[in-house]
Amino acid sequence: MTIHYRTQGIIFEKIDRKEADQLFTIYTKDFGRLEILGKGIRKIKSKLRSGIELFYLSEIEFIQGKNYKTLTDAILIEKFPHLRKDLRKLRIAYKISEGLVKLVREQEEDKKIWQLLNEIFEKLDKEKFENGKLEIIYYYFFWNLLCLLGYQPELYHCAICQKRLKPEKLFFSSKEGGVICNFCKKNIKSIREISPETIKVLRILIEKNWRLLEKLKIEKKFLQFLNIITNDYYLYLSNQLVNSKEI
Ligand SMILES: [Zn+2]
Repeated sequence: MTIHYRTQGIIFEKIDRKEADQLFTIYTKDFGRLEILGKGIRKIKSKLRSGIELFYLSEIEFIQGKNYKTLTDAILIEKFPHLRKDLRKLRIAYKISEGLVKLVREQEEDKKIWQLLNEIFEKLDKEKFENGKLEIIYYYFFWNLLCLLGYQPELYHCAICQKRLKPEKLFFSSKEGGVICNFCKKNIKSIREISPETIKVLRILIEKNWRLLEKLKIEKKFLQFLNIITNDYYLYLSNQLVNSKEI
């Protein structure tokens, strides 16, 4: 007898496959990340089409075959309509999707990641963001996801000598996993300076203090710093994950 599994999931990626099939990458409530094949789903007559689309929250049902999982039912729960109408918000949703697909590799239930994704999509859909503030939701996603995956950056002590950080010249090292003091920096060749303001924003992001983030006036240059450090850490970790998979 074939077992039918039911769960909720947010759809992060869809790739066309042969004939009228599509392969979906879905982050689910009960199984974590899954890849599920929608057979014949691009056909107009397909009953599943209306229930599954990129950035939908849907109730899905699937069966486990020998080589892959096949979608057997999909019911739309929430389509986040405001997100869909706003190109700037959509761009952030694509960035979040890319980060999730790269960094979360295993099929494993994680209720905290599930909650984080639901929170992010609700905020992205409902909140009005002032100019330049929209990027903050991506950073909020990214740094909190890293904490849940066990890559919380060191922001209070030097990641090398463990001394408590003082407001002096400080640096960020993706390889060492956090902020480095001016003394330890001497032994490292290429390293980026990080301002105390940027460290402060990172701390608030990781504390998940959304109300404070909303009120916070962040100068453009500190947002640029944050962007550089986030990209750097993202590249470093995604390379690490790819290499560890290959070994
Ligand atoms: Zn140090």
